[in-house]
Amino acid sequence: MGIARLYPSRPQIALQFAGWVLYNLRMRFTTVFFDLDDTLYPPSAGLWHAIKERMNIYMRDRMGFPAEQIPRIREKYFLQYGTTLRGLQANHEIDVEDFLAFVHDLPLKDYLIPNPILRSVIASLPTRNLIFTNADRRHAERVLTALDLNDLFETIVDVNAIAPYCKPMPESFQIAMRLAGESDPSKCVMIDDIHRTTTAASKAGLFSILYSESYSNSSADAHLTDWNDLKGILERQ
Ligand SMILES: [Mg+2]
Repeated sequence: MGIARLYPSRPQIALQFAGWVLYNLRMRFTTVFFDLDDTLYPPSAGLWHAIKERMNIYMRDRMGFPAEQIPRIREKYFLQYGTTLRGLQANHEIDVEDFLAFVHDLPLKDYLIPNPILRSVIASLPTRNLIFTNADRRHAERVLTALDLNDLFETIVDVNAIAPYCKPMPESFQIAMRLAGESDPSKCVMIDDIHRTTTAASKAGLFSILYSESYSNSSADAHLTDWNDLKGILERQ
């Protein structure tokens, strides 16, 4: 056979090469978009909860919102605009950079510990892997460093890159794919912990995977509770 002819004296290399070819032929995807917060680390880490607390403090102390109204306003903005920030931008004067710096100003080492399994799973994927987050690049880089994952992603598609949109708006997926150099959504995967984002990703033609620590019903194309299962899910499609 051709591979054996290429490596007649090195059967081990020939076998490895054949395995690599088969593996990549088996997977129809070329790009995987990973959400950041509550996906690359579990909700039980408490970081995302702490970020939301700082959003409340910012809105109360820097913008003058009555404390008791903030949860309702944030819920409304989340549903109507995608994120608290996009809602604040649409309805109030806000310094976006100042807001993002304030809410993410947390000692990440107190919340995050590297997950060697997650690292080896991502490193073994034959796909191009990108971060696609509604947070900003600076936060994403700090989180990736704290998780020891900072060398595994080609690009970070952050909230500024997709402005004025954000996940789950359809335009945000178009921009993310364009930045990834992908024109065919069926070759792309979105892994996220928020139902409406995976639903929107599916509608945009991507293969969607809902990540959560426990099983939950969703309209995602697949559900992931254990990172060890990721390769199998991708290969089976
Ligand atoms: Mg998330």
